[in-house]
Amino acid sequence: MTAVQPKPTPVGETFDSLSPATDEVVGTYPVHTADDVRAAVERARAGAGWWDGLGFAGRAERLQRWKGVLTRRLPQLCQAVRDETGKPVADAQLESVLAIEHIAWAAKHARKILGRHRRSPGLLMANQAATVEYRPLGVVGVIGPWNYPVYTPLGSITYALAAGNAVVFKPSEYTPGVGKWLVDAFAEIVPEQPVLQLITGFGETGAALVGAGVDKIAFTGSTGTGKKIMAAAAATLTPVVIEAGGKDALLVDTDADIEAAADATVWGAFSNSGQTCIGVERVYVHERVHDEFVAKVVEKSKNVRAGSDDEAQYGPITMPSQLAVIRRHIADALERGGRALVGGVDSVGDRYAQPTVLVDVPEDSEAVREETFGPTVTIAKVRDMDEAVEKANATKYGLGSTVFSRARGVELASRLRAGMTSVNAPLSFAGIASLPFGGVGDSGFGRIHGPEGLREFSRPKAVARQRFTAPITLTSFTRKESTDALVAKLITVLHGKR
Ligand code: NAD
Repeated sequence: MTAVQPKPTPVGETFDSLSPATDEVVGTYPVHTADDVRAAVERARAGAGWWDGLGFAGRAERLQRWKGVLTRRLPQLCQAVRDETGKPVADAQLESVLAIEHIAWAAKHARKILGRHRRSPGLLMANQAATVEYRPLGVVGVIGPWNYPVYTPLGSITYALAAGNAVVFKPSEYTPGVGKWLVDAFAEIVPEQPVLQLITGFGETGAALVGAGVDKIAFTGSTGTGKKIMAAAAATLTPVVIEAGGKDALLVDTDADIEAAADATVWGAFSNSGQTCIGVERVYVHERVHDEFVAKVVEKSKNVRAGSDDEAQYGPITMPSQLAVIRRHIADALERGGRALVGGVDSVGDRYAQPTVLVDVPEDSEAVREETFGPTVTIAKVRDMDEAVEKANATKYGLGSTVFSRARGVELASRLRAGMTSVNAPLSFAGIASLPFGGVGDSGFGRIHGPEGLREFSRPKAVARQRFTAPITLTSFTRKESTDALVAKLITVLHGKR
């Protein structure tokens, strides 16, 4: 094994962002200190008030214009993503296009979902008019990962902005250039106030943001970091959204379109070098179609290759330290009786990892239980779909999942303990802006995207307005005994029948 690529390391008060394909320096960024971060959050307070004051229509108009800039400069944005992650431009385009769809959706729907709504006051309080509206929290700190440096942080940033918050954004130290590109584009549209600001640096800068007095932290990254952030945020009761890792399963039933299921497995497991939180890492296949499915996956995998040339389907491993994890998971699986039908330990080089398909891997091995975050997949035979569901659910994670079944797709989907499931296609939920995105267990909690994502970045404000004086007053020391007797009778009539 040759030496692994260097991690971006601090140089004085700056750090270099490196291309994972060539180690070339593609940009140099400040390591922001705790004081810098606090100052950014203070500036954001003023920005938040101004942004809130624009109202839904004013914000929507600016968000739509920001979306227009991203769309027109798509090639430039995709190049920035390729430079820092090494992924093919077409993949960078796919994640950017989905992010653009989300900006459009959030801008269009924020008023309807967050604006003032009437609620029924109920019979006892019939003299009241009840309303609820969703007010912005203030300043939201967004901490992002590197694997989808456009789609993932924008899932939080877009919805927080549409809900009326200012945002201070710390991108991953591996993709600060993409973060800066997005923030600069926003500043062109909203030059008046610091509504969306960038801070750059390593984990310490992210930790400083958690402690800087923000009103919420939206974190996307590994489960381990999510736990640290939640512990730190507890000191100030700062609420958090945690979008963490996954170990997503794909289920194949007897009546599935086997060709499509194999295609979804190969793409879901290997695209973006397997560095996808909702990537396919485990497959459970009904015994009656197992052999046919495995043969197709093996055949299709042979046409997939990592590299940095234009023909390669996916690029390098962005974070060098992950190579050792991928290698360890494969080695452990093979030592414990697993077989590699495609690839193996030697597929993991010092920069690229070629596809690996594993079978006969014990369910308690690391390759089945822990997030590999590389281009590997385990395939297991099950006697029926009950066993498939049971095994898919036997994980501490619960992010995405996929079911291939013509007759039972939705039924099996609802039995999976995961935040999201696609039926008969891979990862479709991620492209539907109206659907909430998030997980359970070690995959985190809270939701981005959809109405739930808008509400995640707001606080419900309940108002009860008295329309007329009630014939009987309940909330006064002048209340009479006869009133209490009447209330007791009324409640018995209303609720005492069963
Ligand atoms: P990471 O946890 O190493 O880093 C994520 C971010 O947290 C970075 O910006 C980092 O600088 C910052 N950070 C590190 N330590 C911190 C601390 N103590 N306090 C505050 N911030 C800190 O994760 P990563 O390697 O960048 O991303 C890969 C992980 O992200 C994978 O586990 C993947 O599954 C997950 N992910 C999840 C989703 C999702 O939506 N659930 C999406 C994409 C990626």
